[in-house]
Amino acid sequence: MRLSKYYVPTLKEDPADAEVVSHKLLMRAGMIRKLTSGIYNYLPLGLRSINKVAKIVREEMDRAGAMEVLLPTVQPADLWKETGRWEYYGKELLRFKDRHDRDYCLGPTHEEVITDLVRGEIKSYKQLPVNLYQVQTKFRDEIRPRFGLMRGREFIMKDAYSFDKDEEGAEKSYFDMFEAYKAAFSRIGLRFKPVQADSGAIGGDFSHEFMVLADTGEDTIASCRSCEFGANLEKAKVAVPDGPDMTGAGCPAMEDVATPGAHTVEEVCDFLSITPDKLIKTLLFVVDGKPVAGLVRGDRELNDIKLRNLVGGNEIEFADEALVGKLTNAPIGFAGPAGLDKDVPVYADSELKLATDWVAGANKGDTHVTHLSLGRDCAVAEYADLRVIEPTDPCPECGGAIEFTKGIEVGHVFKLGLKYSEKMEATFLDENGKTRPMVMGCYGIGVSRIVASAIEQNYDENGCIFPPSIAPFEVCLISLGGKDQDVADKAEELYAEIMKMGVDAAFDDRKERPGVKFAEADLIGYPMQLVLGGKGLKSGIIEAKDRKTGEKIELPLDGFAEAFA
Ligand code: ATP
Ligand code: MG
Ligand code: MG
Ligand code: MG
Repeated sequence: MRLSKYYVPTLKEDPADAEVVSHKLLMRAGMIRKLTSGIYNYLPLGLRSINKVAKIVREEMDRAGAMEVLLPTVQPADLWKETGRWEYYGKELLRFKDRHDRDYCLGPTHEEVITDLVRGEIKSYKQLPVNLYQVQTKFRDEIRPRFGLMRGREFIMKDAYSFDKDEEGAEKSYFDMFEAYKAAFSRIGLRFKPVQADSGAIGGDFSHEFMVLADTGEDTIASCRSCEFGANLEKAKVAVPDGPDMTGAGCPAMEDVATPGAHTVEEVCDFLSITPDKLIKTLLFVVDGKPVAGLVRGDRELNDIKLRNLVGGNEIEFADEALVGKLTNAPIGFAGPAGLDKDVPVYADSELKLATDWVAGANKGDTHVTHLSLGRDCAVAEYADLRVIEPTDPCPECGGAIEFTKGIEVGHVFKLGLKYSEKMEATFLDENGKTRPMVMGCYGIGVSRIVASAIEQNYDENGCIFPPSIAPFEVCLISLGGKDQDVADKAEELYAEIMKMGVDAAFDDRKERPGVKFAEADLIGYPMQLVLGGKGLKSGIIEAKDRKTGEKIELPLDGFAEAFA
């Protein structure tokens, strides 16, 4: 590729709206351009990197036995109503109507579509297991799209879905994907850690997130200094041996929860002066047996979100900039999470995070916190006994010291169990001719986010330092020919040779000053620069510079191919 003919609109200045380094550098290196909030054009260099990530991910999916498909981005509401997520998903789901007034959404994820596909085709245990994946554009109407490719509204995801005949098979599928993820992220060259995760809005039995370790990450992860244990902060607190086991199907009705002072749905509604049909979700916090505060969501459409102290009866509404005030009668102090505005997202995932973040901030060390979550139908939807882990606490696995770091979620594997197959009746006939629901798993990778994450981990004051596996080009041959035709000719010759060798190279054959060429090559972050100048030509050498270390070595022009290899 000749830079003289390539479209690389680099920028001298950081764009005003870019907060994190990857966003700044992707813009400045001419790799992306913003169309509108959270929606980007991928330019030639950016697309090359994205495609390289996707290629590695595809290879590892194929190796693990998954099969590529491509599902529609436009999804009918009817499918989402079958699983209840049309109601549950909240405003991240972009909904619209067609000319016949029928409801649709843009796919933020594809559990419903894939389950619909599979239930129509797979009838017998003999056809299982099956794992289907796609690399595709997702749309999530994120409340706060930011950081460029890191949190877009439109972004590229690899999502895979496994269907098995039993638990054992489903677990194997899960761990096969787990291993495939490790292989893919290692090949890409990311420094990452798989951590135990909460399964959030997707739901299901258990899950792991793959975190790229970087200070700009939006997630906080707890890692053990002595063993492999890692968890995202929410999960780290959900591991209390003396609490009742209330995960999954055994979850009791609210009335039966043996926590003193827990409130029934009726009590909560009464207290909030709303009817149960308006109550979509409530999180109650019970600290050392005393209910302390609840995060209550009323009518979703009205975006009516209130935080109340269920002891004192005080109420805090979300103010413009942050949650303000104190719940004066609470047995513990209350500190509102900062930076929330009126548009706080109205889906369960973020509420839980919000609430657990708050608990972490408010109760460090002293306490035993119970979180109860109520669904609209007045059954307990989720229950978790939360304990706040302090940096000095015992790692739950080995007792070692825990440290907290920031991470970027680049992948997520979920064991879904029967959550979707039961609701959507994705069943098969087993060996005994008995109808059974398929056991599912789902697995996501943020393909476009990975490009940003790689930059967050690899940059310096001059620009990106791409890992070779996903660099837009691995090598940039820089000709300092200028008016020196001999240098220009030799560079052409070398370029032809490099192409013949199958090297993934860009050729800076532009009539620019050397300073401009060096600065751009550093900015774009080609892992290696090959620089040919007049002096070098005379002494028969070309300089190879390692972008990461800055190390320069001289290679002979005579016998270049052997020396380069
Ligand atoms: P996050 O916690 O960052 O909002 P998520 O948990 O909502 O992500 P998943 O539903 O697990 O995301 O989707 C699978 C993967 O898709 C994520 O691990 C992440 O890498 C990527 N992803 C999710 N949301 C975005 C986004 N808004 N922009 C870019 N990539 C995203
Ligand atoms: Mg999300
Ligand atoms: Mg997440
Ligand atoms: Mg996730």
